[in-house]
Amino acid sequence: MPNDDINFNDEQLLHYSRQIMLPHFGIEGQQQLQQAHVVIMGVGGLGSPAAMYLAAAGVGILTLVDFDTVDSSNLQRQIVHNTSSIGESKVESAKRTLLALNPETNINCINKKLTLDELESLITDTSCVIDATDNFTARFLINRACVSQRTALISAAAIQFEGQITVFDLRQENSACYACLYNESGEENTNCSDNGILAPVVGILGSMQALEAIKLICTIGETLKNRLLIFDALALQWRTMKLNKDTKCPVCSKH
Ligand SMILES: [Zn+2]
Repeated sequence: MPNDDINFNDEQLLHYSRQIMLPHFGIEGQQQLQQAHVVIMGVGGLGSPAAMYLAAAGVGILTLVDFDTVDSSNLQRQIVHNTSSIGESKVESAKRTLLALNPETNINCINKKLTLDELESLITDTSCVIDATDNFTARFLINRACVSQRTALISAAAIQFEGQITVFDLRQENSACYACLYNESGEENTNCSDNGILAPVVGILGSMQALEAIKLICTIGETLKNRLLIFDALALQWRTMKLNKDTKCPVCSKH
């Protein structure tokens, strides 16, 4: 719910004017963004555009989680970092860029690998979680935490010339979860460092994660809940797959 106590000064009204003028968005939408707290898991190729758009759009609190440092091979696609960040922790490097975009964003940096317990307590009472990690182990852990805390999860992945994105709106009983889609014990890791990635592919998917986060926070439009979009960059085509909650899912179904 928008909070009437949040008032914007003239400078803020100008900064956000192109959003505020949107139908179904308005001052209320801006207030909702201001009150929102989004957790971004991974500030690499997907997390970079996601974090930058959310900071620029006026999300009140962003928590960045990543235990990696910036390497020169990251800079081809991880656009929140730059050449001066090489060797620095990704969360601190990202924080600097995000504050330059919008000094009013509150940014928490977590520079470590979190356990399930730590992740669960981190995401309780947050608006949503963006999964921008690059491996199944992390994705399954994030999914378990979001299921147990009933937190909406915006999940994306990209490799080579392909990507996919969906929303697990785990606030709702009928939402599928990541483990309804992938078997926790049966997936082999494939990542960009071994297989390559064309930079704008992660840019597109990460931007869409930011878009879905804004829609969830402001309750506008229809999110990707129970729909998986699959992107083929070479053919420039999108496919939509319907996702159903698996009633025998070991993670999200009651048994
Ligand atoms: Zn499930």
